[in-house]
Amino acid sequence: MSNNSNNPESTPVTHFILNRIRDDVAAGKNGGNVITRFPPEPNGYLHIGHAKSICLNFSMAKEFNGCTNLRFDDTNPLKEEALFYEQIQNDVRWLGFEWTELRHASDYFQQLYDYARELISNGKAYVDSLPAEQIREYRGTLTEAGRNSPDRDRPVEQSLDLFERMKNGEFADGELVVRARIDMASGNINMRDPVIYRIRRAHHQLTGDDWCIYPMYDFAHCVSDAIEGITHSLCTLEFEDHRPLYDWILDNISIDCHPQQIEFARGNLDFTVMSKRRLRQLVDQGHVDGWDDPRMPTIAGIRRRGYPPAAVRQFWESVGVSKSESIIPMGVLENAVRNELNETAPRVMAVLRPLKIVLTNFPENETHWVEAARHPQNPDFGQRKVPITRELYIEQTDFMLEAPKKFFRLKPGGEVRLRNAFIIQCNQVIQDADGHITELHCSYDPDTISGQPGASRKVKGTIHWVSAEHAVNAEVRLYDRLFNATNPLADKQRDFSEFLNPNSLETIADAVIEPSMADANAGDICQFERTGYFVVDQDSNDNRLVFNQTVALRDTWAKFAG
Ligand code: ATP
Ligand code: MG
Repeated sequence: MSNNSNNPESTPVTHFILNRIRDDVAAGKNGGNVITRFPPEPNGYLHIGHAKSICLNFSMAKEFNGCTNLRFDDTNPLKEEALFYEQIQNDVRWLGFEWTELRHASDYFQQLYDYARELISNGKAYVDSLPAEQIREYRGTLTEAGRNSPDRDRPVEQSLDLFERMKNGEFADGELVVRARIDMASGNINMRDPVIYRIRRAHHQLTGDDWCIYPMYDFAHCVSDAIEGITHSLCTLEFEDHRPLYDWILDNISIDCHPQQIEFARGNLDFTVMSKRRLRQLVDQGHVDGWDDPRMPTIAGIRRRGYPPAAVRQFWESVGVSKSESIIPMGVLENAVRNELNETAPRVMAVLRPLKIVLTNFPENETHWVEAARHPQNPDFGQRKVPITRELYIEQTDFMLEAPKKFFRLKPGGEVRLRNAFIIQCNQVIQDADGHITELHCSYDPDTISGQPGASRKVKGTIHWVSAEHAVNAEVRLYDRLFNATNPLADKQRDFSEFLNPNSLETIADAVIEPSMADANAGDICQFERTGYFVVDQDSNDNRLVFNQTVALRDTWAKFAG
């Protein structure tokens, strides 16, 4: 692994694609240039899987001082929305990459039309009037050859005329299509005269109503790549069977660029789904609170969750690039996040479920300020001042009335150190009529604070705390995995939404935090000591802080494994 992977310009780990490009450059192919592209369809938000492709495309170009275009593959106006064009650009930038040129397949609609005409002119494509169901039927199966459409031998002039009239809007949607004339008996079904143009009266985000015919993906993609002079067209494995078509189209039109398509395995994570269509379903059906819900595997979701972009880059780099499909445990991604935040997140004390303690020998109306490091290993973070008063909050889980022997936090008669401060002893437990513990009366040992002779006195447990008087109230959102199943798509009989985890969000309305966080802004990340990493959510306002749990301090996924 590269030791400098937090830097998007660092040298990537070697893999078959890097080797292949290196060979091409060494052989002087494409004049030694490397031009890649990231080609999303603007039909939803990007997800962590897309980040793999983004990291790969941008890092390959960087490695050879090449260029990477961001190209919107916007050939299906029914599914595309203006919002997604914007969001995708934000997401790519957030990941730390800047494209050379912003392009759109729709920029090339005229050229695509002209290349389709060229195919028709050369007898390599024809206008077909078979209805869609029949085209499917005629296509044959894996074991049976397809049959030629009756229109396959339509005279070229007639096809050219019909194509022009399709463009002019003389036919209804679906009435005619243009098909490449390849081989209805091909062992590769993609080569059995694939449709390359269809009629679709839909308003396009960028070209408006200029066109009522739109190119199919397989046609638009390779031609767009070639127009942009892409040298290496990196895509996921499901396009392997489309490569012969990619090559066929470019071999049969008069374009002098022929990019090399290279396929790699998709990135998949367990306990989630990664496809815009399915993520959209979660949003539309209200299972989550929008595309940027912190439980979503979208780039917008993980950003709001507090994942640092460097961790996402590091994660995909460590996973590597190969041709074999795998599902990566979510714990691996979380570890990358934890490792990064351990270095970069300042520490604070926050109590999620407060239990009040009264230090009976601490003067009333007095505040003692203790100095605490913002980061235990990195003095560059500096110090903060934390107030300590007679009344404090500690975590309910840090006290047990009837504690087992190994319980080293607070118990009746027991001692514990308050982090960054002194040792306290629990003298009295106050309960209400129902037996609920309402507060603890403790005494503190002033001799054990930093600078005093007893500062080094050891007790087994150290717990965090917040001054009741100075506490800043906050809402804290804790997250669990979005699905209960390792692969929510495995059961074909059931919709993946049936496997949603009903307890994926827990909201704590009245957590308390030390006052150094009072002026925190959305996006600020910190470690709540002993608890986990948290980020200030955009829902925060002047009166109320809201924190999202980014990741717990320790791996909470291991228990679900196997
Ligand atoms: P989705 O089903 O999520 O819409 P897609 O492949 O249809 O995925 P596109 O917008 O067409 O989405 O994808 C843009 C690029 O991202 C493509 O090159 C695609 O291969 C790549 N990509 C999509 N999902 C993944 C993934 N899970 N891992 C790696 N690359 C991916
Ligand atoms: Mg798609």
